[in-house]
Amino acid sequence: MHQRTRILVTGGAGFIGRHLCTRLVAEGHDVLCLDNFFTGTKDNIAHLLNDPHFELMRHDVTFPLYVEVDQIYNLACPASPVHYQSDPVQTTKTSVHGAINMLGLAKRTNADILQASTSEVYGDPEIHPQPESYTGNVNPIGPRSCYDEGKRCAETLFFDYKRQHDLGIRVARIFNTYGPNMHPNDGRVVSNFIVQALKGEPITIYGDGSQTRSFCYVDDLVDGLIRLMNANESVTGPVNLGNPGEFTIKELAELVITETGAKSDLTFHDLPEDDPLQRCPDITLARQTLSWAPTVPLAEGLKKTVAYFRDHVAG
Ligand code: NAD
Ligand code: UDP
Repeated sequence: MHQRTRILVTGGAGFIGRHLCTRLVAEGHDVLCLDNFFTGTKDNIAHLLNDPHFELMRHDVTFPLYVEVDQIYNLACPASPVHYQSDPVQTTKTSVHGAINMLGLAKRTNADILQASTSEVYGDPEIHPQPESYTGNVNPIGPRSCYDEGKRCAETLFFDYKRQHDLGIRVARIFNTYGPNMHPNDGRVVSNFIVQALKGEPITIYGDGSQTRSFCYVDDLVDGLIRLMNANESVTGPVNLGNPGEFTIKELAELVITETGAKSDLTFHDLPEDDPLQRCPDITLARQTLSWAPTVPLAEGLKKTVAYFRDHVAG
């Protein structure tokens, strides 16, 4: 990789995008951050706006884009179930039309392109933990389908562009990622629980809290994405990026209460339709091909995330 690579990050003003842009600018690259600010905010990347090697562009990936770049990280897509279900047609368009437009851009510029795919492609998995070879158990017509099937179709497009046009593709299947700079109203479980705890409000557990998730700290995830983008071009993925430490949602609530010292009660609500019961990545492939494994345990990552929310929400 030569110096000052021109890198496009779509969805760059979102939670993961913000951390990725920050890291890429710090590494000395020219970063073009593109976002339509559906769930992302200008505040997220305000600290980069005066850097001459950072550029912000308001644009929706469902429309074509003509810029000159060497690498593309395609992150544009709302990731929280609350937000991606609020306009499901737009969610599918973002994944599918967005992938077509960004793949077209990659083809014209001969750029390498990485897709932020998701553990949701496994649906409610019957195999545990989930290896990349598992083809999933996904409902095509449920409330989560706009996201799950949109991401699955985007993966299909990436591999067809590879087969048909020999494009340099990378597909990361990201498992639940958390950390500072999640939006307080994001709606995902880690930010919900921390904000509720810091405000002394009840912790809202959906279902009985026995469903599991595996939580990856954002710095680890960003490290994995950058390693994947810069790996040998034979490493297309899909490759799981996540932390194999698996917790029930009730255990997460208890950890958040311990970390915040909150007096909040646990309250139990209906489990949303099609909510996966268990999720844990098999990261053998990432270990072997990227020499990558997460380094931040949940308790440590929660400490940093709680500190952020204390300063920015409750402070
Ligand atoms: P986020 O919602 O914070 O960020 C998504 C960003 O994309 C936002 O800035 C939003 O405004 C932007 N966006 C949405 N639609 C757009 C469009 N049509 N055009 C341009 N920009 C658009 O979510 P995140 O957690 O940062 O997730 C980033 C990516 O990683 C997403 O593609 C998501 O599906 C994927 N992912 C995230 C997780 C996770 O746990 N955080 C897990 C799996 C996959
Ligand atoms: N969840 C919860 N309370 C909340 C938000 C989410 O119990 O306030 C549960 C949700 O039902 C799911 C898990 O936490 O089982 C993770 O949800 P999230 O929305 O963070 O992401 P998902 O992995 O479902 O996409």
